[in-house]
Amino acid sequence: LGGSISRALQQMSNATIIDEKVLNECLNEITRALLQADVQFKLVRDMTTNIKKIVNLDDLAAGHNKRRIIQQDFISLAVFNELCKILDPGKPSFTPKKGKPSVVMFVGLQGSGKTTTCTKYAYYHQKKGWKPALVCADTFRAGAFDQLKQNATKAKIPFYGSYTESDPVKIAVDGVDTFKKENCDLIIVDTSGRHKQEAALFEEMRQVAEATKPDLVIFVMDSSIGQAAFDQAQAFKQSVAVGAVIVTKMDGHAKGGGALSAVAATKSPVIFIGTGEHMDEFEVFDVKPFVSRLLGMGDWSGFMDKIHEVVPMDQQPELLQKLSEGHFTLRIMYEQFQNILKMGPIGQVFSMLPGFSAELMPKGREKESQAKIKRYMTMMDSMTNEELDSSNPKLMTDSRIMRIARGSGRQVHEVMEMMEEYKRLAKIWSKMKGLKIPKKGEMSAL
Ligand code: GDP
Ligand code: MG
Repeated sequence: LGGSISRALQQMSNATIIDEKVLNECLNEITRALLQADVQFKLVRDMTTNIKKIVNLDDLAAGHNKRRIIQQDFISLAVFNELCKILDPGKPSFTPKKGKPSVVMFVGLQGSGKTTTCTKYAYYHQKKGWKPALVCADTFRAGAFDQLKQNATKAKIPFYGSYTESDPVKIAVDGVDTFKKENCDLIIVDTSGRHKQEAALFEEMRQVAEATKPDLVIFVMDSSIGQAAFDQAQAFKQSVAVGAVIVTKMDGHAKGGGALSAVAATKSPVIFIGTGEHMDEFEVFDVKPFVSRLLGMGDWSGFMDKIHEVVPMDQQPELLQKLSEGHFTLRIMYEQFQNILKMGPIGQVFSMLPGFSAELMPKGREKESQAKIKRYMTMMDSMTNEELDSSNPKLMTDSRIMRIARGSGRQVHEVMEMMEEYKRLAKIWSKMKGLKIPKKGEMSAL
């Protein structure tokens, strides 16, 4: 997917004139890619309509080069922003408060990952000092209680359920009452599902909700259900007041475009994603990295993991600190180049590094790319500390550029090319500004 969207945008930037035909071709390509990522057709269509409105073609036709370039960025930014907008229902979900009893009910089809996610959700809060508890109100699936019991025991979380009682409403109410008396502040009700969306299931959900009066109902969705996401989410929303979404199995092949459908259908935000079968494979949902991943613009969180692997631990806080402050200096670029050369098998790793992939490191031309990086580093070796530590490209006057070229035995145009590369990367990396820096070990502990 990422490939085809970047390709579409790339194609457009190669076109000398961006007219309606070029824009349409680009948007068609993006449409195809988003559909492949399971984004609902209607959402994609609305988005492209909006983008056409935003992009003023008359302006484009009249524009000179500079304006055209601004417009290209504008289009990719517009796609990005439109997708972010779809994922933002405009209001946050109900957030339970520590120390104050809240009831959270999980709904979703069988196999979507409810029981697993209930435990992950409980465990996540328990680690933050909450007193969670689990109630198994699934009397439909044989072994449902055993599964919850096993998960809960492993995580040392109190649980409630029954092997004999067949009324899910009664179990749910008894469980919630029991844990309210025990001063639990997060009472999680796991419910049953069915393979299909059927009336009996929705009626059961309605009754459990009516009896337990949950503060929050979370709809759990398997990311691999594809285009079915919208209808499924809507069906649940129509019987219970869904207030948040959790998308599971994001570790699989699915790009997760169904999440957009679920938000649109429930008018509720995605709050977490499941990224594996284990208890701690659970992440707070963040719109921008999710959309980046959907678009293949580079996965920031994956990228952060790579930084952890590649950059020696003791250097990280400083580098990350600098990046989060928005200071992408030539020295940082130099250090990154050093790391890249150290990294070994060039290739897929680069699809993770925003900006480093397509242009600097085209696939199949890794040798040339390495030579180029080494050339750049030679030129940077002829720079002064002042030049290396500045994040202001204006410092690079003609006389400095000539001096660097002479000092490194390279051509002036090569130094200029490197400075262009630096500016391009600096622009991309400026997105790191304001990034939350994970503390040492935080990432690997998860
Ligand atoms: P339920 O029927 O909705 O309660 O679903 P379960 O919690 O029983 O999960 C169904 C299957 O999906 C189980 O095998 C889980 O281990 C698996 N599962 C749940 N969440 C994830 C996830 O985020 N990633 C992966 N890979 N598997 C998951
Ligand atoms: Mg279950």
